[in-house]
Amino acid sequence: MSEPTTHTLGSWFAYARKHLDDADAQTLCETAFEVNFSELVAGAKLPAPASQIDVLRDFIGRRRNGEPVAYIVGSRGFWRHEFIVSTKTLIPRPESETLIETVLPFLTGSARVLDLGTGSGAIGLSIAAETGAYVMMTDVSNDALQVAANNATNLKLEVQLRRSNWYDAIHESFDCIVSNPPYVASNDKHLQNGDLISEPLIALDGGLDGLDALRVVIGDAPAYLHHGGRLAVEHGFDQEEAVYAIFESTGFQSIELMRDLSDHPRVTHGVMP
Ligand code: GLN
Repeated sequence: MSEPTTHTLGSWFAYARKHLDDADAQTLCETAFEVNFSELVAGAKLPAPASQIDVLRDFIGRRRNGEPVAYIVGSRGFWRHEFIVSTKTLIPRPESETLIETVLPFLTGSARVLDLGTGSGAIGLSIAAETGAYVMMTDVSNDALQVAANNATNLKLEVQLRRSNWYDAIHESFDCIVSNPPYVASNDKHLQNGDLISEPLIALDGGLDGLDALRVVIGDAPAYLHHGGRLAVEHGFDQEEAVYAIFESTGFQSIELMRDLSDHPRVTHGVMP
């Protein structure tokens, strides 16, 4: 399809929508033209500057090549904040907000919280912002920790960041541990599709059955939880029975499954007596 002949915000937004999903077209136009959605709609007849058209043309090309929108614009909204993302971190997903909803009712400002495998920091920082709790966020990737640190600075949140392969560098105990570990099975075809192709495999691939990281995160948790402490993990929609069994054999009580907005099993949490 040929490019618009009149260069207005509206003609270019319409062009973007012909090539892309509506939501993607909207986000890319908002970013390229530096406007919000109502300004984009209200300003449809305004001239689009040539430099911004160049940016949008580049964005559309990259998106059509499969690059995730969040990596193109460099950020993604999660819970109440906008988080910087890079190709070194997973893109925060709406289903991970289930993890926040699960633990918030149990946390106060004096809680000590550990977020294992924090990536962009979206989960730990959202908890810190909501509760004022002491939050330690870990990742095995220094690149991810740098993104999380940038997000903490951006949001003016004080948190602890530590490089750790799961619990390896942890010597403290906590009231609550949260984690969204890699849980996709290595041979799952979803790894070859959509945004997942562009995301770091280390943040997605959970081994043959997808449960390798979950076994460590759940199985080793008791040594790092206070009595009455809570563990909440995200997992695949078809892993709830396996995850329940690991919680149970580890000695957790009051084990409960939470569903995400699409009604898929998504988070399991339990209490260490
Ligand atoms: N929910 C993600 C997906 O399947 C996987 C995230 C993860 O492995 N932690 O797209």
